[in-house]
Amino acid sequence: MREPVLEARDVVKHFPVGGGGVVRAVEDATLALLPGRIVALVGESGSGKTTLARVLARFYPPTSGEVLLHGRSGAGRRDYHGDVQLIFQDPFGSLNPLHRVRYNLERALRLHHDPRDRRELDRQVLELLERVSLTPAADFVDKFPHELSGGQRQRVVIARALAVRPKVLLGDEPISMLDVSIRLDMLNLLARLRDEDGLALLYITHDIASARYLSDEIVVMYAGRMIEGGPKEEVIARPRHPYTKLLIESSPDPGRGEDERAALFAGADELGEPPSLVDPPAGCRFHPRCPFAMPECEQSPPPRTDLGGGHWAHCWLHQKGRADELASTTTHAAAPAGPPAPAAPALRAVDAGKEEGP
Ligand code: SF4
Repeated sequence: MREPVLEARDVVKHFPVGGGGVVRAVEDATLALLPGRIVALVGESGSGKTTLARVLARFYPPTSGEVLLHGRSGAGRRDYHGDVQLIFQDPFGSLNPLHRVRYNLERALRLHHDPRDRRELDRQVLELLERVSLTPAADFVDKFPHELSGGQRQRVVIARALAVRPKVLLGDEPISMLDVSIRLDMLNLLARLRDEDGLALLYITHDIASARYLSDEIVVMYAGRMIEGGPKEEVIARPRHPYTKLLIESSPDPGRGEDERAALFAGADELGEPPSLVDPPAGCRFHPRCPFAMPECEQSPPPRTDLGGGHWAHCWLHQKGRADELASTTTHAAAPAGPPAPAAPALRAVDAGKEEGP
C-alpha cells in the first residue's frame, strides 16, 4: 500500500462573519491523496470543496485538524508549494496578462529550480509547453495570455504548475470555464500527467459524470461535510447516500442515447442551492431534503459506516438497518424500460423540492 502524499485529517474550516456568526464551510474532512491516483471531490457550489482545496493548498489555515505532506505538518511555505500546486477555475485570472507565456513559466522555474543558464531555461520552457501539448512550442512561447484560447491558457497554467515539479495537483473545477469541445482533451491531459509523473491529483467538480470519467475514487461533499466516498464505479453503481443517488440521477447518462460528449459534461446544475452554512440544519445536513429522514437525522450527524471495499457513507440508514430501502430505489441510469420502481417517486419529490429552493 502506497503512503499518501497529502492528507487532510479531521479538517474543520470556519469563517467568522458579522454579528458573531460563523460560516461552517468544512467540517471533519478526512482525505488521502496517493501517488498516481485521482480523487474526485464532487459537490454543488457551496458544498465546501473549494474551501477544502484552499486549506490543502495552505491558502487558509484550518480552524482545527491537520494537513500532512509526506506524513508531516509544518513544511516551509516554499517547500510546501514545491510539492503542492493548485490550478484554478479561471485560467485568464491565473496568468499575469502583462507578460508573455515565456515569462509566466520562467518565473516558476527560476523560483523553484534555478536553471543554470539561459539556454537551459529556454529548453525547459519549451519542454513544458510540449508536455501540455502546446505544439509547436515555439508558436506559443511568446504569446500573451489574451492571444490564447481558454483551453490553451489552461494548458499554460498546468505547464506552470508542472514547472515546479509537484507531487500533488489540486484542480479546482479546472475545466468548468472551458468550451465543452475541449473539456475531454483537458481531462485526458490530467490523466496522462497522473500516469507519466505519478502525480497525486485532486479533481474538484460539480459534475459527477466527468468525475466518473477521470477519477479512481469519488468523494461527495454536501453542505460542508463529506457524506460518501469510495472507488468510483462502486459509488456510481451503488450509491449509499440519498444525496449521492440524487446527484447521479440528475446527471445526464451518455448511455441513454444523448450526444455522448455533450451529455458527459452537461452537469447537474439543476440541483439547487445547498443550505446556509451560517445556520446549517442540525443533525444530518441533508435531512430537510431527504425522503428517508428519521427523527435521529434531525438530532445527530450520522457516523461513518464502512461498507467494504473502501466504500463508506455517513447516513443513519446504515446504522438503523434500513439501507435496503435506498438500494431498492432505481436510478435513471439503471432503470429498465417500463414503469419506475416503487420508491423512485420519493427521490423525484426531492428533485422537485429543490427546484423551489432549499
Ligand atoms: Fe437522509 Fe437521514 Fe441519511 Fe441524512 S442520515 S441522508 S436525512 S436518511
